[in-house]
Amino acid sequence: MTSHPISQNQSLFDASQLRIPGGVNSPVRAFRSVGGTPLFFQKGSGAYVWDADGKRYTDYVGSWGPMIAGHCHPDVVKAVQDAAANGLGFGAPTASELEIAELLCKLLPSLEMVRLVSSGTEATMTAIRLARGFTNRSRIIKFEGCYHGHSDGLLVKAGSGALTFGQPSSSGVPAEIAALTTVLDYNDAAGLERAFAESGNEIAAVIVEPVAGNMNLITPKREFLDALRNLCTKYGAVLILDEVMTGFRVSLQGAQGYYGIKPDLVTLGKVMGGGLPAAAFGGRRDIMQCLAPLGSVYQAGTLSGNPVAVAAGMATLKLVQEPGFYENLSKLATRLTTGLTASAKKHGVEFCAQSVGGMFGLYFSRAVPTSYAEVMACDKEAFNRFFHAMLDAGVYLAPSAFEAGFVSSAHTEADIDETIAAADSIFSVWK
Ligand code: PMP
Repeated sequence: MTSHPISQNQSLFDASQLRIPGGVNSPVRAFRSVGGTPLFFQKGSGAYVWDADGKRYTDYVGSWGPMIAGHCHPDVVKAVQDAAANGLGFGAPTASELEIAELLCKLLPSLEMVRLVSSGTEATMTAIRLARGFTNRSRIIKFEGCYHGHSDGLLVKAGSGALTFGQPSSSGVPAEIAALTTVLDYNDAAGLERAFAESGNEIAAVIVEPVAGNMNLITPKREFLDALRNLCTKYGAVLILDEVMTGFRVSLQGAQGYYGIKPDLVTLGKVMGGGLPAAAFGGRRDIMQCLAPLGSVYQAGTLSGNPVAVAAGMATLKLVQEPGFYENLSKLATRLTTGLTASAKKHGVEFCAQSVGGMFGLYFSRAVPTSYAEVMACDKEAFNRFFHAMLDAGVYLAPSAFEAGFVSSAHTEADIDETIAAADSIFSVWK
């Protein structure tokens, strides 16, 4: 691994570790997976970010997805400034909340009503509670390797045997709560069918990432998507598509539009907040009407629908509606993945890559993985070496082999080609 000289990043990290557990406010930022010292960023502009030492990187993390228009897009910054000048928050309804709710319902036809929250975690946590309240059932199904935020019932991994109860994947999550979550294999339609056959009348909801972006990137098989929809309908369970990552990322209509699958509830975050804390969940009117104050399912938030966050989201959603936005984004992502793949092939490196819309996956494996087990079999050490070599070359990839990457509309073909050239130099001496 490359060692970094003592730098501002290092001294900030040293000091941070005294006051912030692990020196970070969200674990993956700590570089535990790839090793080394995390970068502390001081600014971003377009496709670039600068660390505490003033070194510039081409950014393929984009704040983990929100920066789809690049950092500090002038329209977004202006909208935030204008909103801030009118008041930072009221804890009372504002017209801008109606505006974004109407826009979300227009762009995603599966949304008849939405509620705004401040994080993806809140969106998924509440969608689950709502599904339970609506169905009067307790059990939920999730898939190994999908991440839906850090609420107790979703920090659960598979127990032994496909149909046994889930087990906590974090200390502090009671086994009794984890036991209400059944954890199945992603892309395994037959496994899902078995689970429903076994206990279909107990299942309140199935929650799924329609493109899995938290175990690198795994695309859904058609039969899996069809099984999700058909089985939920057949057994009266609520299908929750977690589009926190894929929403406005893989297409203007999200993964639901891209793949043509109609969910009962949808969770959104990241892009719809434009980099500020705004998220949402929504869907069928009959389900959403179960929410307080109309119904008996409770949910609330002091900062929900915050006007500054909504302004950042609205400005970003305006940009992504421009003609050709997703064609351009997809072209950039494809240029990156095909360029990297061609370079690796030329130098005999076992590597492959794929993209969906503006998100991509890089794999140190012979073939693109289609399951959690296949992702786990990729060469993690090779990724870590590649990550650090790219970092040295001024390219910032997600600091983990198990995260998807993102391009923005601020990336140019020249940026992508520079990144491919950096990888080519690394692959040319790869052993
Ligand atoms: N769902 C998915 C699919 C996500 O990718 C994430 C965050 N990476 C979340 C939920 C949780 O969102 P947040 O970090 O805003 O709580």
